[in-house]
Amino acid sequence: MFYSKTTKKKEFILEKYQEKVAYYLNEFQKYEKKYGNGIPYSITINKGKHSGHIIFSSLVHGNEVGSLPGILKCIDDIISNKIKFFGKVSFFLGNIEACLKNLRFVESDLNRSFGENYKGALSKERKRALEIMPLLKQADVYFDFHQTIMPCLKPFYIFEMNKQSYYWARAAGVANTLVTRKKGVSFSSAGMCTDEFVRSLHKAGITIELGEKGFHKESEIMSYEIMKRSLKCLDKVFLNHSSIIKLSRKNIDFEFLNIVYREPFHHAKMQLNEGIINFKSITTETKLGVNQFGKDIFSKYSGYILFPKYPKRTENGEAIPPLPGEIFVVADKTKEHPLVWKE
Ligand SMILES: [Zn+2]
Repeated sequence: MFYSKTTKKKEFILEKYQEKVAYYLNEFQKYEKKYGNGIPYSITINKGKHSGHIIFSSLVHGNEVGSLPGILKCIDDIISNKIKFFGKVSFFLGNIEACLKNLRFVESDLNRSFGENYKGALSKERKRALEIMPLLKQADVYFDFHQTIMPCLKPFYIFEMNKQSYYWARAAGVANTLVTRKKGVSFSSAGMCTDEFVRSLHKAGITIELGEKGFHKESEIMSYEIMKRSLKCLDKVFLNHSSIIKLSRKNIDFEFLNIVYREPFHHAKMQLNEGIINFKSITTETKLGVNQFGKDIFSKYSGYILFPKYPKRTENGEAIPPLPGEIFVVADKTKEHPLVWKE
């Protein structure tokens, strides 16, 4: 009885999810008819008063749909001039097939498929990355909206330390935490993220995690606010020649966390304990899960857990491949302001 009830509930949720997704994708495609830029599920609105170009994206991970309503609202408000904007803005939706299936990705992680030196297979996602890369090459500023797999105690920006990206993120505000790392330490060994690709072109590339995945009012409001504020900043920088450094200082500075440890997901039998959520505080003594030999997994450093992974498993408990790069990451407060780090 219990199981059939939860299964029904799951089916109901999925039905609702798919209804909502279909609605928003359809709305986006209506705009595409007039503002399409040649890339499927992407539009460009050019107000033509300055050369600044800002790009926003959603669904780079297919089931992280939280910013989708915010993006639609933002497009609507730009077109109706409710948001006054004078430059060029593009939007793209990353992984549509995965989104429709309520999956993070179909063949490989789109957010590890960017860059000119990509070494992986020519997956559906790599093909999509190749479609999107010419657009991203035109960005002056780029915001990529994500959500975490597990519940999350607060929204956070996350990107490798880069002054420009830091100033733009702080100017946009909304989240007060920046999870960062020193330049040169690639986020994932698999391939380039979208924002990483933009930074490699010496432009501001920013990822924000809005909270737990799914349609939530908070995600909609946060993504909309970030877009509205950064559109305004783009006008100020490109039209009035304001300094993004000065604009950023109108907002309080971030709390900075640095990634201090990653536990590689190197065996399908590795498994985290239930209920580990983002920003859970841990020490080196906290039992986090078990490895393939049934021994406890500990972090080598104290701090806060990020990106705990709970992949689907077979009957004998093995995670179904492809395995994520890390089973969890640990971040801790930085001792110094990351601006003192060498770039
Ligand atoms: Zn994501």
